[in-house]
Amino acid sequence: MKVLVVGSGGREHALCWSLAKSPLCSELYCAPGNAGIASLATCVAVGAEDVEAIANYCGENKIDFVVVGPEGPLVLGLVDRLNALGIKSFGPSAAAAALEGSKGFMKDICAKYDVPTAAYGRFRDTESAKAFIRQQGAPIVVKTDGLAAGKGVIIAETVEAAEQAVDAAMTDAVFGDAGAELVIEEFMTGEEASFFVLTDGLSVLSLLSAQDHKRVGDGDTGLNTGGMGAYAPAPVLTPDLERQVLAEIIKPTIDGLRAEGKPYTGVLYAGLMLTPDGPKLIEYNVRFGDPECQVLMLLLESDILPALIATHDGTLEQAELQWHQETALTVVMAAKGYPGSYSKGDEIRGLTEAGAEEGVVIFHAGTKAGEAGEILANGGRVLNVTARAPDIAKAQARAYVAVDRLDWPGGFCRRDIGWRAIKRG
Ligand code: ATP
Repeated sequence: MKVLVVGSGGREHALCWSLAKSPLCSELYCAPGNAGIASLATCVAVGAEDVEAIANYCGENKIDFVVVGPEGPLVLGLVDRLNALGIKSFGPSAAAAALEGSKGFMKDICAKYDVPTAAYGRFRDTESAKAFIRQQGAPIVVKTDGLAAGKGVIIAETVEAAEQAVDAAMTDAVFGDAGAELVIEEFMTGEEASFFVLTDGLSVLSLLSAQDHKRVGDGDTGLNTGGMGAYAPAPVLTPDLERQVLAEIIKPTIDGLRAEGKPYTGVLYAGLMLTPDGPKLIEYNVRFGDPECQVLMLLLESDILPALIATHDGTLEQAELQWHQETALTVVMAAKGYPGSYSKGDEIRGLTEAGAEEGVVIFHAGTKAGEAGEILANGGRVLNVTARAPDIAKAQARAYVAVDRLDWPGGFCRRDIGWRAIKRG
C-alpha cells in the first residue's frame, strides 16, 4: 500500500519511522518532509497546507492512504477533499476539526454534552468582553477563537491585563482573524497532562498519557514554545483518572459530535488540567502532539498502520495495540534564540554517534540536507532526541547522553525534561 504522510516536523518523522516498519506499507511518501524523513520516505515538494496540490498528488500517484500530521490541513478540509476523491485518510473532517480550529465551538460542545471544562463566555465585541471580565474578576484567561500557533492564550493576572488582551486581539488584531472572536474563561489550577485516543467516530482505542514542557527554560521558566520535550506515560494520570477522563470527557465529546452530524475520526488529543475538583478539559487538539507523538511512537510495539486505517474504515473496535511497558522521553534541541529569532544553516555533527546510543532514536524537526549531504539546522525546533528505557530516570539519562554526543554549538535544550515524573518517584 502507498502511504503519504503530510507535514514536516518531528511528529511526522516519528509517524514515518513507525509506518516504515509496517509490512502493509510498500511505499512511503511525505509532503513536504525534512532531511531525517528523507531517509525513510520519498519527500514530495508540496506544502502541508496546500490542500489542492496534496489532493492532486495523491490522485495522480494512486496513494492508498494519507496520514495527516498537523492541524492546519485538517481545519482547511484536506480529509474532506481526499474523501471526495475516494482516497482514505487518517484525521477528522473540517467540521470535526473545528474542535481545535474554533475554541468557541469546542466550548459549546462541552457545555451541551456536560464535559467538565472551565466556565466561559464567547464574545465578538470589546464592550461585552470587558463587562464579562469585570464581572468575573481576575485571574482570568483570554483566548482567541481561531488558531494562533499557541500564542493566542493570555493568562491575565489582573482585570486591566485581561482588558488589554481584549483590545490587542480585537481592536489591534494582533492575531489577525483568529482574534475576531474571543473565548474568555475561568482560570483553573492543577497539574497538566495530555491523553491520546484513536476513534472511528464510535469506538475509542486509548493510546497513552503524556506530559510536555511548554516553557523554553529549565524549571518551566521563560517564554512559551511549541514544546521543549515530553515523556509518556505520565504517572500523574493514574489508571483511575484515565477511566474518569474517558468516561466524563472523551466519550461524551465523541458521542456528542456524532449526534451533531459531525462524527470525529482520527486521533483526539485532550489537554487536561487535574484540578482539585477532578480532571477538566483545557483544550482539544485534532492531531498528535509534537513532541508527544515521538514518545508514543517509540513506545508502540504494534504496527500502527492497521489502527490508523481502522479509524477511517469504522472498524476500530477490532483493533488492538501493544505497548512496551517502559517510559519514553524526548528532548527538543532548538536553535539558540528560539522562540525568538534564530539563525539557520549551521551544520549538525555527531548524529550517527548520538543515534547509536542504546534505546535512542533521533527524530528530525527543522533540518535540511546540505549539498554534500550534511545535516543543517533549518528551523526553531530542530531535533528530538528520544529515548526509551525501563523507567523515566533511565530514559532521561539515555536521552541526555545522546544530546551530549551531538556537535552543534548553535543549538540548546532544556536539561530537566521529565522532572515532574522523576520527582514523583
Ligand atoms: P497549544 O499550543 O497547547 O495548542 P493553545 O493556543 O491551543 O495552545 P490552550 O492549550 O488552550 O492554547 O492553552 C495553552 C496553555 O494555557 C495551557 O496549556 C495552560 O497551561 C494554559 N491555560 C489555558 N486555559 C487555561 C485555564 N482555563 N486555566 C488555567 N490555565 C489555562
